[in-house]
Amino acid sequence: MAGVKDFGLSDKGVTRLAYTDLDFAAQAWLLEQVKDLNLTVTEDAVGNTFLRRPGIDNSLPPIAMGSHLDTVIQAGAYDGIVGVVGALEALYMLRDEKLTAPVEIIIFKAEESSRFGYATMGSKLMTGSATPEQLSQGTKKNDKSFVEVLRENGYNPDNYAEAIKKPGYYKCFLEIHIEQGKVLDETGEQIGIVHNIAAPTRFKIIVDGMADHSGATPMGFRKDALVAGAKLILAVQKAAEEEASKGTVATVGVVDVEPSSINVVPGKVTLWVDLRGVDNASIAKALDKIQHAMANVVDSDKVIVSQEMLTADKPVALSDDLAYEFAKICEEMGVKYRHMNSGAGHDAMHMVKLAPTSMLFIPCKEGISHNPAEYAKLEDICVGVEVLAKMVKKIAQ
Ligand SMILES: [Zn+2]
Repeated sequence: MAGVKDFGLSDKGVTRLAYTDLDFAAQAWLLEQVKDLNLTVTEDAVGNTFLRRPGIDNSLPPIAMGSHLDTVIQAGAYDGIVGVVGALEALYMLRDEKLTAPVEIIIFKAEESSRFGYATMGSKLMTGSATPEQLSQGTKKNDKSFVEVLRENGYNPDNYAEAIKKPGYYKCFLEIHIEQGKVLDETGEQIGIVHNIAAPTRFKIIVDGMADHSGATPMGFRKDALVAGAKLILAVQKAAEEEASKGTVATVGVVDVEPSSINVVPGKVTLWVDLRGVDNASIAKALDKIQHAMANVVDSDKVIVSQEMLTADKPVALSDDLAYEFAKICEEMGVKYRHMNSGAGHDAMHMVKLAPTSMLFIPCKEGISHNPAEYAKLEDICVGVEVLAKMVKKIAQ
């Protein structure tokens, strides 16, 4: 069956980067499929798209739903798309209902960081959380900057402020998304109700030792930066493990070794650390323990250790009221659900600035995401859409 996934599909999965012809074509195709819903389609100054169904009283703030259609490189068919198609499906389910408030589906632009180096760009711009100039700092080699891409596609980045919406503009914002983790797949629950979205603190640990001849330098005379770095990797793991009950996690995902030669004692090592969670105090505690370990290896390994902060975003709390409303609906329907947090970032985390916001997670097979093997069962998605539709009906009446 034809679908959004066909735009950018190859034997290596789906690649549909933001603001590419494929991205625009996928959206145009999807809008063509839902013409019979008679939605009013508008676009803001940076390319976010809004599909509005009028209510009985259009002076009321609309109930918003939505997600994104862009993908990472070699992605699957569900991340983001479930949220857009699911919201449209919810409108089909509500077709014969008289709703007092208008309903608006938002298709956010550039949720994935794969093209421009920044994630959730559309929702950042819409909520006044960043400017196009700021989002042009991560331009990749061989690609144009974000500002240039905006111009090329007929948007005027100088007018980006016209895209900013004020708090209270929406009644609420609701997003369905695949979990991208394996909790629901393992527990067998069909719905995850999200309370907090984790935010990453990212930093580099730079260990300066002394590059020396691997044969001629006796063990006691070395300042081996990689040995000291290895101790710090274990310290990062331990710091997060001690905070595991709070949901804090930490990863050293990149290790740069210089000069990286088999006959040279490593002289310099850079560890790239991603520390994240939903509890600020717990993140701070873990960071403190890591910094303590850094001071320790300075003493024990005679190296110099420094730290360079990359990002320190704050975790975002979603609406508990909406979450418990979702839980009530699940109970009425006899659907097994769980209250949980999101380890990954989503457009919803910026939408909290505009309106009470909630998210529903759909089980994702083995937690695999950002991968061609990404899979969510249609029956689970349908349950999520039904819960969403019931919620919209409840709020809109
Ligand atoms: Zn996504």
